[in-house]
Order: sequence, then structure tokens, then C-alpha cells
Amino acid sequence: MMSKRTEVHRSPHKQNHDPEVAASIISRALVAHVAIAVDGQPFALPVACAPYKDELLLHGSNASRLFKALMDGTPACVTITHIEGLVVARSSFESSMHYQSLMALGSARLIGEDEKRPALQALTEHLFPQRPTELRESTVQEVSATSIVAFPLNEISVKVSNGQPKDKDIDMDSDIWAGILPIKTSYGEPIPADNLRPGIPVPEYIATWVVG
Ligand SMILES: Cc1cc2nc3c(=O)[nH]c(=O)nc-3n(C[C@H](O)[C@H](O)[C@H](O)COP(=O)(O)OP(=O)(O)OC[C@H]3O[C@@H](n4cnc5c(N)ncnc54)[C@H](O)[C@@H]3O)c2cc1C
Repeated sequence: MMSKRTEVHRSPHKQNHDPEVAASIISRALVAHVAIAVDGQPFALPVACAPYKDELLLHGSNASRLFKALMDGTPACVTITHIEGLVVARSSFESSMHYQSLMALGSARLIGEDEKRPALQALTEHLFPQRPTELRESTVQEVSATSIVAFPLNEISVKVSNGQPKDKDIDMDSDIWAGILPIKTSYGEPIPADNLRPGIPVPEYIATWVVG
């Protein structure tokens, strides 16, 4: 939902109101940047994230300043960015990027004890699909050392930039190349842990993992 605070002023034509675009940005995200102000100084921190019904899950150590603040309901700004290409224009001024980005404003909801394990499971499943089926259960100590919050997604903005180079008339006779260089993010070949017991194959489900 858009508010006065989430109305795009700069390049407003790039604001996207399609809930499916927002959902796609969130479902492809492994990392969100979470910004809070501490004594007037903003700090923007990258953390792992996962969709959780109509909220976004964020987790961290109980000792983290960020998570202590989020658990206290400190207002925060969460952004997710996917860079999809470089716009290689005929001048540096017009050179830019293709992107899809989402900003959410609000205060996080602390996930209570009874909801903590399923929420942590949802986070692991998002980041490492199918992995929870073969992982041992987290210990009580592991769960209690972790804070997990759900960030609301009811005050968001989405900005999408996907245009052609918008070169000026003075550059249109130029002989230099211009165009789009797509950026693809992907996983590489799995590297076994140095201490892996011999004969343990890479699980088949890892081949299904994709980024973005
Ligand atoms: C990968 C990437 C690279 C960028 N590089 C640059 C750059 O080099 N220089 C530059 O000036 N800008 C860049 N931008 C755009 C930048 O994020 C801002 O949109 C822009 O600077 C305008 O800022 P503003 O404070 O004037 O926004 P305003 O339009 O005044 O912001 C008003 C509201 O619009 C929404 N909003 C603004 N920007 C975004 C966004 N990116 N995503 C989602 N919601 C948004 C927020 O809700 C915000 O509160 C980049 C964006 C991305 C994703």
C-alpha cells in the first residue's frame, strides 16, 4: 500500500504498483538492507530475509544492536534491490542501471516463542530450499540465541528501471557503442567442505537452486 511517505517523487514514472512485481522482488531476495537511526545516526545493515505470509522475516543474534532495536519496535526502513543490467549510454551522465527495488517502512513485530521454530524453518527453507528436510532440529540453545522479527509490508514502494539509454541529441551521431549489459546472478559449482566425510554426494536439490 502506498502512503505519502512512499510516493516516488524522483522519476515517478518508475514507481510500480503491481503487487505481483512487489511479490517477485521479495520472493527473489536473499538479503535486505535494514536502516535504523541510533541517536540521530542512521545505520543501514544487510541481513538475510525471507517472505513470510504478508510480512518479511529478519533474524539475527540476540546481542545485535539492530535486532534489539527492531524487537523494541524502533521505526525502520527496509530495502531490497535487484540489479538487472547496466545501461551503457553514450555519455556518463545518461549511463545508469536496470533495477527493481522495494522499500518498506514500519516497525517490526517480534516473533513469539510459539511461532519461532516455524518462522526460522521458513527462513532456512527460503535461503536453502529443501535443506530443512535433512537438517537436524535446532537445539533449544540455538533457537533461544536467535531473535526473529516479521517486518510489515503494508507501507511499501516499488521502483523499476528498465529503459533504453536516453542519450541526448548531441550524442546521437557518436560512433561509440551503446546498449544494455544484462547482469545475471547465479550459483557456481558446489565446493565440498574441507572436512566432509568421503563419499557424501552433493544433494540433488542443490542443482535446483537459482538466484534472482
Ligand atoms: C541499483 C540502484 C542504483 C541507483 N543509483 C542511483 C544513483 O546513482 N543516483 C541516484 O540519485 N539515484 C539512484 N538510484 C535511485 C535512488 O534509489 C532514488 O530513487 C533516487 O536517488 C531518488 O531519491 P529521492 O530521495 O529523491 O527519492 P524520492 O522520490 O523523494 O523518494 C520518495 C519515496 O519514494 C520511494 N523510493 C525512492 N527511491 C526508491 C527506490 N529506489 N526503490 C523503492 N522506493 C523508492 C520511497 O518510498 C521514498 O520514501 C538507484 C536505485 C537503484 C535501485
